[in-house]
Amino acid sequence: MASGSFVSLDELQRTSRPSTYGPGASGDVRPPRSAAMARQQPLPEEYRHLSPEELDRRIGEARAALGQRLVVLGHHYQRDEIVKHADFLGDSLKLSQLAAGRREAQYIVFCGVHFMAESADILSSEDQIVMLPNLTAGCSMADMASLPDVLAAWDQITARCGVDVIPVTYMNSAAALKAFCGEHGGIVCTSSNAAGILGWAYEHGRRVLFFPDEHLGRNTADRIGLDQAEVTVWDPRRLAESREALDAARLIVWKGFCSVHERFTVAQIAGARADYPGAVVIVHPECRREVVQAADASGSTEFIVEAVEAAGPGSVLAIGTEINLVNRLAAAYPDRTIFCLDPIVCPCSTMYRIHPAYLAWVLDNLMDGRVVNRIAVDSRTAGFARIALQRMLDVSAAPGTARERMAAVA
Ligand code: SF4
Repeated sequence: MASGSFVSLDELQRTSRPSTYGPGASGDVRPPRSAAMARQQPLPEEYRHLSPEELDRRIGEARAALGQRLVVLGHHYQRDEIVKHADFLGDSLKLSQLAAGRREAQYIVFCGVHFMAESADILSSEDQIVMLPNLTAGCSMADMASLPDVLAAWDQITARCGVDVIPVTYMNSAAALKAFCGEHGGIVCTSSNAAGILGWAYEHGRRVLFFPDEHLGRNTADRIGLDQAEVTVWDPRRLAESREALDAARLIVWKGFCSVHERFTVAQIAGARADYPGAVVIVHPECRREVVQAADASGSTEFIVEAVEAAGPGSVLAIGTEINLVNRLAAAYPDRTIFCLDPIVCPCSTMYRIHPAYLAWVLDNLMDGRVVNRIAVDSRTAGFARIALQRMLDVSAAPGTARERMAAVA
């Protein structure tokens, strides 16, 4: 039987939805900035000693027993031992939308990181319960922009430049930042629609404040034809310099980065091409600008999956993204040569915190009628965040390319 501290389902229904903090979490107080501060209770001792086979058995048994009432979501960057138990595999937005479409599923177990579970909670219905198997599974990039720092930046930027600024947050951010955008005429973007979203933003304001990823911001500026001279970095640790550079800026990018994608270099691309002449290099747009420019193509995880699929037998593909996804693609397409640009293993260390033992523990508790590790965004935050997310969905569905939008407002 499962053990550990818990709340009963009855108790959950009686109480309001509390904020649950972890890395990348939201709320009306400052969230913890490090994984060590997250409130993950120790995994009960018995789970530490279960064999992989026993963990698989327990997870399988719980999934079978809970049936349609449960949906398990697996992000592309999860390890294989988790992915094999997922009902759906995808990127964060796709998974949240899939979960929202499964209204019969009372429980959504999100094997990803904290901001993804928050988005699933925002997009799902009131009676659906979202859980993250390990609360310390955050995102180091999302943690680089806290709500207090963004509020301080906003005050200083609008004081200097006026209110003609549109805030745009990447999907990889806490719900509180999505809510900030919803409340201030802003919007959310993903790595696949960032160009169209920036085009939309320039229809509504002269400047854009983009957070938390500097590289996605710079790479998107290139895609929409914005001059890099009009891009400046907002570094919350260097406020005076950041303020000075504002006057000429049209795009203000937050000084944040993904620790996985920042590892890729131009030298690695040159090495791959030297070893495999004719190799096609595809990288994620969270990579540095010079890396994206040196690659043959760049795009979201879904884009990378589709590009590998489309490449055809015999092709050689050097990929700049998280290693679990690259290894899975290499195993799925043995007729292609697929390898990671970084010769040293580059997993997302926070994604890796979702171990099968945590998944088994969460599901065993559900079998016993207990919910553990619930991710619940308070209703005010969820309401404004939904506005920003809905704007994104509407813009993505609208006709017109980002360049066309830019041309129209230039
Ligand atoms: S790969 Fe990078 S952006 Fe994605 S969850 Fe990990 S740290 Fe965050």
